[in-house]
Amino acid sequence: MKIFLYNTLSRKREEFVPIKKGNVGIYTCGPTVYNYAHIGNLRTYLFEDILKRIFIFNGYKAKHVMNVTDVGHLVSDSDEGEDKMVVGARREKKTVWEIARFYEDAFFSDTDKLNIMKPDVICRATEHIQEMKDLISKIKKNGFTYESEGNIYFEIDKFQDYGKLARRNIADLKAGSRIEVDKHKKNPHDFVLWFTKSKHGNQDMQWDSPWGRGFPGWHVECSAMSMKYLGGSIDIHCGGIDHISVHHTNEIAQSEAATGKKWVNYWLHGEFLVVDKERMAKSAGEFLTLEKLIDAGFSPLDYRYFCLGAHYSSQLVFSYEALESARNGFKNMKDRILKLRKMSSSEVFSGSVEHYASEFIKQINDDLNVPKAFALAWDLIKDDNILPSDRLTLLYDFDSVFGLGLKDLKEEIMGVPDEVMALVRDREIARKEKNWKEADLLREKIQKAGFVVKDTCVGTEIKKVV
Ligand code: AMP
Ligand code: ZN
Repeated sequence: MKIFLYNTLSRKREEFVPIKKGNVGIYTCGPTVYNYAHIGNLRTYLFEDILKRIFIFNGYKAKHVMNVTDVGHLVSDSDEGEDKMVVGARREKKTVWEIARFYEDAFFSDTDKLNIMKPDVICRATEHIQEMKDLISKIKKNGFTYESEGNIYFEIDKFQDYGKLARRNIADLKAGSRIEVDKHKKNPHDFVLWFTKSKHGNQDMQWDSPWGRGFPGWHVECSAMSMKYLGGSIDIHCGGIDHISVHHTNEIAQSEAATGKKWVNYWLHGEFLVVDKERMAKSAGEFLTLEKLIDAGFSPLDYRYFCLGAHYSSQLVFSYEALESARNGFKNMKDRILKLRKMSSSEVFSGSVEHYASEFIKQINDDLNVPKAFALAWDLIKDDNILPSDRLTLLYDFDSVFGLGLKDLKEEIMGVPDEVMALVRDREIARKEKNWKEADLLREKIQKAGFVVKDTCVGTEIKKVV
């Protein structure tokens, strides 16, 4: 079955043709680990997870590579300000290394809770400095760089079609530039491949290089690591739409300058999650994390269900009311599935699931039309002409794409939702480990969700607050 994807590069819906038959290589830009991911970032990782799941559903062998940015991403995407890691370390009075590991763990804990599949390769920038230096040497040898005040810059005027992804020509870029003028740059859109301490003296993470002791620019890590793990040509590269004009544009320029050939065949970009008409961003001060949603009584999968309702290329407006209606929808779906499991299969049912199965793959293969596939799943749940066991089998199949854990759904104990039961179990573990502080925190979370726990000699009792 053909898969169609909207390619940002061509601005067209295209049939997917893999580089190697039956295989798909996917590179997704990962987190900059200086703070928690916000739920906007997580929306992008959810879209990428769905993409990977769709390929697996179609029988492809998927290799998904994701980087972890733990050095070199400056406060502005275009070389201005300090390294975000340095800012994070100062904020929390920790070392940059401590910050990096802490927020990397927090990130993968969030993605686990959201049922996002672990990438096949997770690669940290700080562990691939040699690969980056090798790539910079190639770009330099091919004549695309210059050195100024000890830093190595990529000269965009030397690269034909620099603006091809963002659909902007260099003249427009120059005219419309809001980038702070760096007197060392020939063109304000030139970007740094290697910084030396002449630019940021307070950088803790530094390595020796042929150009002086320093650290890599942000963009170069994605080119170097994707080439190491996926080769010089990649099927699919993804990220949020904010990456089109700077990060991905620069990634293309430096990769193709190094190899002399087309680097990525399909570029997919996810639209923003917006709150109060503003893009959710870490720089906006207060931002929503998954933990905050859990504290407000929602489960991570309620958020996943919420995101499934919108196409990845449309903006999604977040509000607690909207999340609440997603939670109700999800609860309804779970109740229906539990009911289907109990229904007798002895009656005669005339309908067949064939139409649903073929429509489903048609929808998901049409540039990830998950909202339509989702509506179809709902029709299937309600189609009383079809044998309950057949409906369930197909729904579980669909759920390998949705990732809502429908097959593992358990009967809620005395009306206690799964997410509250998970908190109760975590609290029991904390109590066993005599971690009273954690146990108290979990008790508070359980209370916030409308339940009380009582520790008895036969175990923990849980009751709904009436
Ligand atoms: P960062 O950690 O800032 O590099 O961002 C991680 C991912 O989240 C990138 O792919 C961004 O494009 C994406 N992203 C950033 N803000 C939003 C948002 N408000 N909604 C959806 N995705 C976003
Ligand atoms: Zn990247």
